[in-house]
Amino acid sequence: MEKRKKFMLSEADIPTQWYNITAEMANKPQPMLNPQTKEPIKAEDLFPLFAEELSRQEVNQTDPWIDIPEAVREKYKIYRPTPLVRATELEKALDTPAHIYFKNESVSPMGSHKLNSALPQAYYNKLDGTTNLTTETGAGQWGTAMAFAAKTFGLELAVYMVKISYEQKPYRRSLMQTWGAQVIASPSMSTKAGRKIITDHPNYQGSLGTAISEAIELAMQTPNCKYALGSVLNHVALHQTIIGLEAEKQMEMAEEYPDVVIGCFGGGSNFSGISFPFLRHNMTGEKHTRFIAAEPASCPKLTRGRFQYDFGDETGYTPLIPMFTLGHKFAPANIHAGGLRYHGAGSIVSQLLRDGLVEATAIRQLETFEAGVLFAQTEGIVPAPESTHAIATAIREAQQAKEEGKKKVILFNLSGHGLIDMSAYDQYLAGDLTNHEVTDEEIDKVLAEN
Ligand SMILES: *Cc1c(COP(=O)(O)O)cnc(C)c1O
Repeated sequence: MEKRKKFMLSEADIPTQWYNITAEMANKPQPMLNPQTKEPIKAEDLFPLFAEELSRQEVNQTDPWIDIPEAVREKYKIYRPTPLVRATELEKALDTPAHIYFKNESVSPMGSHKLNSALPQAYYNKLDGTTNLTTETGAGQWGTAMAFAAKTFGLELAVYMVKISYEQKPYRRSLMQTWGAQVIASPSMSTKAGRKIITDHPNYQGSLGTAISEAIELAMQTPNCKYALGSVLNHVALHQTIIGLEAEKQMEMAEEYPDVVIGCFGGGSNFSGISFPFLRHNMTGEKHTRFIAAEPASCPKLTRGRFQYDFGDETGYTPLIPMFTLGHKFAPANIHAGGLRYHGAGSIVSQLLRDGLVEATAIRQLETFEAGVLFAQTEGIVPAPESTHAIATAIREAQQAKEEGKKKVILFNLSGHGLIDMSAYDQYLAGDLTNHEVTDEEIDKVLAEN
């Protein structure tokens, strides 16, 4: 029988609501805490930092479905619904009985899933009368998405970009500037947080944690200015569920249901997005899908971090978040998957991991690029270095299916393409890339300072 390659929805099928998994979790995530009073954070406490509706979404543990504003749905049409693709060519190359599907979030104009949350974040800020936004970006994916979203809804944006990426990925900087954003390499001299770390560590290449501190500091000091975060927080995971909700309909078209769902893991937004809509059927006992978060071995918060309250940023400006963490002072190695170089995990995924509802695995850099090249050579898409972690995990699962001679349905999220990450592929092809290990001693040392 001829195999169908792509499963496409029409614009009318774009979901009208996001799925809020916390409303249906038996064990709710613990609340964020005010670092001074240790009191749980209420929506109002977040108003100085985030748009009011985003603050309410952040703490909402009661409503399972949240309406997507019509203006946001309208903009989603620029690139949504995204295709679900059966990786038939990869299956052949692996000679596996497994059926491998991927949700192709790389088709957004910025090349990643990040726009799914950037658009609502800009929209809700506009509603509140915000004029300026600040944000951070690692590899530049979030910054580019936010730059376009800010422009779309008429806001000014300043982006703190992790210095190593600012240097490695100059075209992401130009993209942000093309969409009208101001871009500053972080750590910078423009904030107290930046000046302190430059003074303490003059050659520091930056991290997401530091860039977040700088962006928050600028937002707090500027009138009518709010801050936007591209991952980790509950409202970001909420917006990303549009990925899994579409995928659920598309898997129905394929007349299959995933045995395994995989996403790469930075702070958790794309993994949450592909997983939560399927996970709700596990929680009712109807289905028994496995959910695997794939993180880099050099930044292994889920597999080797500790569950505790920690700050979301390097300086300690955020509320305390209950998370699996390597410590907010953790400085990850300079791997090319810049979007995965973050010390902690979002509180929903952290709770799900504690409860055994999701799993995690850590992958070394060379295995991820090997998977990325195989995927490019078979399916034609050069994946983002972040997404290669999901691909490598899917390949491991497909190989295991082959060894066991079992059919298995694998679904992974292709969170982005790598066309602006070719310097990383250059280094890999030249044999210049290495694995970065982090020792238990290093992890213990940073956590001891927490
Ligand atoms: C930002 C990013 C990630 C990691 O962030 P999550 O919030 O964990 O999804 C993964 N892939 C791509 C392409 C990204 O841009």
